[in-house]
Amino acid sequence: MRYRAILLPLVGFSAVTLKWFGVVSSTSVMAPRLGTRTPLLILLGMVVLYTAYQRLVSWHLRRTGRASVGVVMAVNAADLICLFVAAALVSPADHYERTLVLSMFTVLFTQMFFGWTATFIHLALVAIGYISLVAWAKDNGAPIVPAEELWTLALFAMGLLVYVGLQGQVVARTRSLVEIFHRAQDGDFSARYDESEDQMPDPITKIGRAYNKMRADLEAIVLTDPLSGCFNRRGLNQLAEREVSRAIRGKKHIAVLAIDVDHFKKINDEFGHLTGDEVIREVGALLRETAREVDVVARIGGEEFAILAPDSNDEGALILAERVLSAFRAHQFKSLPPERRITASVGVSAAPARDDDVAKTNLARADEALYVAKRNGRDRAERWHAGMRAFEAADGAKARNSVQGMIRITE
Ligand code: GH3
Ligand code: MG
Ligand code: MG
Repeated sequence: MRYRAILLPLVGFSAVTLKWFGVVSSTSVMAPRLGTRTPLLILLGMVVLYTAYQRLVSWHLRRTGRASVGVVMAVNAADLICLFVAAALVSPADHYERTLVLSMFTVLFTQMFFGWTATFIHLALVAIGYISLVAWAKDNGAPIVPAEELWTLALFAMGLLVYVGLQGQVVARTRSLVEIFHRAQDGDFSARYDESEDQMPDPITKIGRAYNKMRADLEAIVLTDPLSGCFNRRGLNQLAEREVSRAIRGKKHIAVLAIDVDHFKKINDEFGHLTGDEVIREVGALLRETAREVDVVARIGGEEFAILAPDSNDEGALILAERVLSAFRAHQFKSLPPERRITASVGVSAAPARDDDVAKTNLARADEALYVAKRNGRDRAERWHAGMRAFEAADGAKARNSVQGMIRITE
């Protein structure tokens, strides 16, 4: 709208000025009837009206926030009516193709903002307007050869369609890049820019290529925790989304383990924060070694980790939990004295993947179960179950859902 509001008044006022002072001819088909000055004054009035109309449409668009088909048609129609009426009023008949040069901009704007259907309709209206103008001028005695004018119109349409087509491709490719960047902003780096469609590498291709090269680095920076080398919470959320949709499709279970190092404050107190950090680094490596390739290991807090285990039910998740507990008990931490052992507590929750929230729900439940594991003496895993009261005294379900050193599933 902004460009339209500038272009047409600019052209209109320039035409009136140049013709008024005789710099260019104002001897139009109308001249024998109205003289040369009156059509210029009418044109001036039209430009003022057009500008007011544009303001009105802009105000309407700002108020409603969207351009309906009716508004698009009204804007296009006003452009073309102004253009062809102005030509009839003040342009010599042998320069009518100037209207095509100007309508080129209106076709371009239409394609950029309103898409292809509106563009074809607009181009058809331009053709109808031009043919009507030429026919009207011929009827009024202008020395016009209709076949020549039609050929001019055909050349214009062909050239413009090619140009608008190329322009449309640029817009579409830029949009695909914008989409890729939006996804990256949300931490999703799975999309690559597809440069196979680009016949001639241009700046858009180069931006796409540069993005493809940076993708892995960006992903590592945004989705992993630098201390432990595991995924961070954002990485966990993003991979969980992918795993959950896969699990829903395959009607599989999803399990989550919440893992918290026992008495970690003591490590910091005894050996200092730097050693504490080293231990966190080693815990990250230990968990990644212990989990399966398909599991997602993430650091979700200070010394709290989570493992998202695809295709795992309670039984499978408890086996993994037990492996984690054993790995801690057996591990000799390089940053600690040889005899110093560290244990962890684990909360486990598994469920069939039925909805998008299954990972989130499992994590919250695993966290609850983790509290119970802590309360029940640490160095153990607890499985979440419906009757679990994380913040009250443990009940009779304790034996069924608890593992310490061995796995007991008695249900
Ligand atoms: P609990 O067995 O109940 O888990 O005891 P805890 O001492 O491990 O207690 P808790 O999990 O509540 O506290 C964890 C402590 O870990 C608190 C904080 O001092 C320490 N911590 C958290 N993040 C970091 C970190 O990035 N580096 C270091 N060195 N210490 C951290
Ligand atoms: Mg702890
Ligand atoms: Mg903690």
